[in-house]
Amino acid sequence: MSIRTNILGYPRIGANRELKKAEEAYWAGKISKQELLDTAALIRKDNWQMQKDPSNDFSFYDQTLDLSLCVGAIPHRYDSLRNDRLELYFAMAHGYQKDGIDVTAMEMTKWFDTNYHYIVPEFIKDQHFELTFNKAAAEFREALALGIKTKPVLIGPVTYLLLGKEKESGFNRIELIDRLLSVYIEILKELESLGAEYIQIDEPFLGTDLSDYVKEVYRKAFARINGSTSLKIILTTYFGGLADNAGLAAELNPNVLHIDLVRDPEGWKELVRLLPKETSLSLGVVDGRNIWKNDFVRSLDLIDKVKGVIGGDRVIVSTSCSLLHCPIDLDNEKNGESLPCEVKRWLAFARQKVTEVVTLANLAGNSLSYFSKAALQANKADIEDRRTSALTNNEEVRKRMAAVTPHYSKRKSTFRERIVEQHRELYLPLFPTTTIGSFPQTADVRSWRSKFKKGEVTKEQYTEFIKSEIERTIRKQEEIGLDVLVHGESERNDMVEYFGEQLSGFAFTQNGWVQSYGSRCVKPPVIYGDVSRPNAMTVDWITYAQSLTDKPVKGMLTGPVTILQWSFVRDDQPRAVTMKQIALAIRDEVQDLEKAGIKVIQIDEPAIREGLPLRQADRDAYLEKAVEAFRISSSGVKDCTQIHTHMCYSQFNDIIRHIAAMDADVITIECARSQMNLLGAFADFKYPNEIGPGVYDIHSPRVPSVDEMVALLRKASQVISPAQLWVNPDCGLKTRGWVETEAALRNMVEAALTMRNNLRK
Ligand code: GLN
Ligand code: ZN
Repeated sequence: MSIRTNILGYPRIGANRELKKAEEAYWAGKISKQELLDTAALIRKDNWQMQKDPSNDFSFYDQTLDLSLCVGAIPHRYDSLRNDRLELYFAMAHGYQKDGIDVTAMEMTKWFDTNYHYIVPEFIKDQHFELTFNKAAAEFREALALGIKTKPVLIGPVTYLLLGKEKESGFNRIELIDRLLSVYIEILKELESLGAEYIQIDEPFLGTDLSDYVKEVYRKAFARINGSTSLKIILTTYFGGLADNAGLAAELNPNVLHIDLVRDPEGWKELVRLLPKETSLSLGVVDGRNIWKNDFVRSLDLIDKVKGVIGGDRVIVSTSCSLLHCPIDLDNEKNGESLPCEVKRWLAFARQKVTEVVTLANLAGNSLSYFSKAALQANKADIEDRRTSALTNNEEVRKRMAAVTPHYSKRKSTFRERIVEQHRELYLPLFPTTTIGSFPQTADVRSWRSKFKKGEVTKEQYTEFIKSEIERTIRKQEEIGLDVLVHGESERNDMVEYFGEQLSGFAFTQNGWVQSYGSRCVKPPVIYGDVSRPNAMTVDWITYAQSLTDKPVKGMLTGPVTILQWSFVRDDQPRAVTMKQIALAIRDEVQDLEKAGIKVIQIDEPAIREGLPLRQADRDAYLEKAVEAFRISSSGVKDCTQIHTHMCYSQFNDIIRHIAAMDADVITIECARSQMNLLGAFADFKYPNEIGPGVYDIHSPRVPSVDEMVALLRKASQVISPAQLWVNPDCGLKTRGWVETEAALRNMVEAALTMRNNLRK
């Protein structure tokens, strides 16, 4: 018997980040639109020829934005840009400031609990939907022309509405379902007429807590879809088990239901009883969120059990979710120093995972070719090697972990007492100004770093260069008139990689890029063993920066939660244990900075919210561990040392209690894109410590005016006491150019001055 396979989605950035390079060249006016389109077509073709499965998993920026454009959910502020589809699309993604037109971008936020960001659909009460462009059909046709019949992928209609936001009051976006479905069905009809057989509809919200009302919407929506199309529906859920929604998912009566068995290995048991007899089950056994090799014996055991209940013809082998969250090809990793051969042996990237799915299906279908038998033997040996390797264990770390007591996670005094000492020490004006850490990373900076990595410049030359960058950055900040300065992070490629490279227990890929947002990719480290800090990591740079100025320079670290969240984490011990090990390493660095005379230290935790479990019931346990880890890293200092933290793109309402429990003296947060609305949570909670709500959006090259920022600060002062407020951009500036950065920061300092003067009047 042959067992079927299913791939939910494949990375679209290209094995060498071709898409990113082409897009950025296009935005800079260096290549034509046609050249960009050609690059995209080539990537799609490569992907299809390799795996022959999904289509419409490609995107120039984000699949949610694609759907917004397709169904005509285009906010009115872009009306003047409607005549050029690609320009319109990019304008929605990152704003537009050209030829007298000046429109802001749409909001962006994290996709469930991943580090992938999507563009938040905007809905109004009279939202009108119309099919402006059937991208799914276009890509299906394109693959067909190459002789490949694909399975198009679409975000499901309910998930799509839930992902969005109401832009005016008086309605609930979910009420728009009927209007949306009409367009949605048009999309399906066209696919049908083109000869498509399957359609994959992603409804990851089925893995979250749902109200009865939304459940009813699900039922009605799928009844209408089922009644309007003859396409076979593969309904996919991922990032968690169906749990109490299992019955609902079964009722939706898809041809195939996909479940994530990595997050919820038991999830099939209850489900198989509820499933209609004709429905097949797609078993997500190969982890789409991590890079460890699949344990074939374990997966086969699971597949066999399900087979035993529903029969092999109803079983499909699959990845847990789209492979979008995985790097592309392990075979491109050739550097045995940063990624030891032994560790590499334990890994599988997207391309390898596709092969794993196929091999598992062959093995499960008992088609025991020589190839699949050999693959099984090799897999057993690799899994055993990892389980017994000496690389993963460090006795010292284990001992230290056992000795951690509760006082590790407590500052000596309360915030009220500390802040008095800090004000005396730092002597800052009201509405103090600062930045989030990084300054523009110019081509020059990047090229020096890469030359240093390749050994083309000496350590001394490189150090001199970074020092000159630090000096330039310090002088610029002094000129602009900022109050708390930063060294600019020019020595850092990435806020996690930089630390991971200096910690033990981490390995690095050369080409393991994963899309983060738009053209931006990240290269997460691989945490394979116990973590420790052999040497100080930032002290030299920060003390050099401080030696250049009388103003306080903020030391800049990445926190334990974020390091964990943005890495591929070992799956052979609880994540919380790895997180605590990292916390201890960061604590050592914080203490070394303080010893070296640094008075303000920022520990960035932009990822704290994205680690939040999707189900309410699991959240407190996660947050308690995360807060504890942050506190372990930050509590080893004197009262007069000021601890900052920074977070971006987070809805804070439901976690504000825990944010407060982190007890950072100052928190800077993203707020500009939401027009300070995010601040409401802090106001309602009466957040006690100091806070810097970002006054401008750094994800766009747009220079905000003084008035704009004053208006935002006024709005902030209405809900937060001016004595608590800081003034800063909403994130690091590394992706910006110097020209717009300087202009924006000058305006920002001006805005802070206006606020101070107004207060005096
Ligand atoms: N300190 C970091 C920077 O400025 C923070 C980045 C982030 O929040 N993602 O780049
Ligand atoms: Zn940020």
